[in-house]
Amino acid sequence: QPVSEPVVYLNGQFVPDSQANISVRTHSFLYGTAVFEGIKAYWVPERETMFVFRAEEHYRRLLQSCRILRLTCPIGLRRMVELSAEIVARNGCRQDTYLRPIVYKVDRRIGPSLVAPQTEDDFLLFSAPMSGYLDTEKGLHVCVSSWRRLDDNMIPARAKVNGAYVNTALAKSDATLAGFDDAIVLSDDGHVSEGSAMNLFVVRDGRLITPSVSSNILEGITRATVIELAQKELGLAVEARPVDRTELYTADELFLCGTATEVAPVTRVDHRAIADGSVGPITRAVRQLYAQVVRAGLPDYLHWLTPATAP
Ligand code: PMP
Repeated sequence: QPVSEPVVYLNGQFVPDSQANISVRTHSFLYGTAVFEGIKAYWVPERETMFVFRAEEHYRRLLQSCRILRLTCPIGLRRMVELSAEIVARNGCRQDTYLRPIVYKVDRRIGPSLVAPQTEDDFLLFSAPMSGYLDTEKGLHVCVSSWRRLDDNMIPARAKVNGAYVNTALAKSDATLAGFDDAIVLSDDGHVSEGSAMNLFVVRDGRLITPSVSSNILEGITRATVIELAQKELGLAVEARPVDRTELYTADELFLCGTATEVAPVTRVDHRAIADGSVGPITRAVRQLYAQVVRAGLPDYLHWLTPATAP
């Protein structure tokens, strides 16, 4: 049964949402020194169960982000996966839900260093109902943003750093204020990096092409999922390499993908229709496969799902 007030995991325990508060002096609030994940849990009515999608891969990436930022996560991967299944159960979720784990610098001090003599990091986790992050049914109209993606030697895109999302926020808000659904950002060298919070695929001559990991992308879990499904289920070739801006305009199909966005067809870029401006067959097939996999519809991929479990 849904509970009136959700619980949040903070400081080693579940507490009611209204009591999950942190100090204004918190280092990560002052300097953005936190790393996070976005994980989705799906309600599967036929099984009366919530399933967390690829939790282990998300937490592996969270620990990589911690390594880059010199953060020490107080709990291990297994425990984080368990807590994710537990919070969904505790909050009585019976609809698609977004999970937001964060490892953050708790220190209450002035000064940006990550390695002050005393430093303390913590893990927190909250959940929020989420369906339809973007309305993706008809295909998106996106722009190429005038904001550039942060470089690996600035704030590494490979780490999901809270502070780096200022870059995302600028690109996303300027795009929506200009009437677009989302933005595609270029790396500082002018190559295509990714969407505001999604990875990108171009379809050309029946092949999938996606910016390589050296294009300052987040190494997306949906991206990896799409690559695997495209190769195994659709028999498509996938190429990861630098992608030019004009390859977007000449693509046969184009789509964005991410945990919240899922698989989102892009039908126009910078007021140019992609091919005939309708959603293409490969995008449609990938989108449908993804929707099946996350809802336990394909037996070969059930190992990607963790059922919600009561404590
Ligand atoms: N790029 C960025 C910048 C993102 O924030 C996200 C969302 N986490 C993605 C790509 C997609 O990654 P994933 O598929 O792991 O959600």
